[in-house]
Amino acid sequence: MQYAAIKEQVQTLAKDKPVTLVCVSKYRTVEEIRAVYAQGQRDFGENKVQDLIAKAAVLPQDIRWHLLGHLQTNKVKAVIDKTTLIHSLDSLHLAQEIQKQAERKNLIVKCLVQVNSTGIPDRYGVDYKDVNGFITAVSDMPNIELCGMMGMAPQGEDPTPYFEALHRAYTESPLNGKILSMGMSGDFKQAIACGSTMVRIGRIIFE
Ligand SMILES: *Cc1c(COP(=O)(O)O)cnc(C)c1O
Repeated sequence: MQYAAIKEQVQTLAKDKPVTLVCVSKYRTVEEIRAVYAQGQRDFGENKVQDLIAKAAVLPQDIRWHLLGHLQTNKVKAVIDKTTLIHSLDSLHLAQEIQKQAERKNLIVKCLVQVNSTGIPDRYGVDYKDVNGFITAVSDMPNIELCGMMGMAPQGEDPTPYFEALHRAYTESPLNGKILSMGMSGDFKQAIACGSTMVRIGRIIFE
């Protein structure tokens, strides 16, 4: 288990600016998560609502659970009071459902706008050209707090141009200065070099 080494690497690369490490625990058992928790980690990320809820129910209450995967509207109600941050706000339809359910539960739900940074049409996320309009529309929803942006680089390509494009969209948006969630096991170094403030790392922590 490489947690301590990865944590240190992230801190070293981040230098003086804070970069939050989210430990992506999808596919991992409760025991594996406990081992990382015991070393001080409190931010964990899951892709699926069912897994997040099941793990949150049995693990310590001070864990902050990040939802990373695509969120279906019919699962919004179950998850909004269990997650600290939804990284995958990718449509107005989803935003409207979060707003509706959050209002009923009297919650403010924190979300990142997921940007389709790969440019691949069938991927989830808001297109670059629509990002600022999307932010404006969601800003009118009182029970959603937009906390930043999230994006990914496509597998098997140099990630740097993709991260630079994401960073530019972020700095040119009203979310500049908030969270920029980018970087995974294979590309977190490049992501931090391009201005990431939150990395989502799974595989290399546990192998
Ligand atoms: C799985 C996943 C990660 C972590 O990927 P690793 O390669 O295991 O580090 C990060 N973000 C999202 C959205 C993911 O689905």
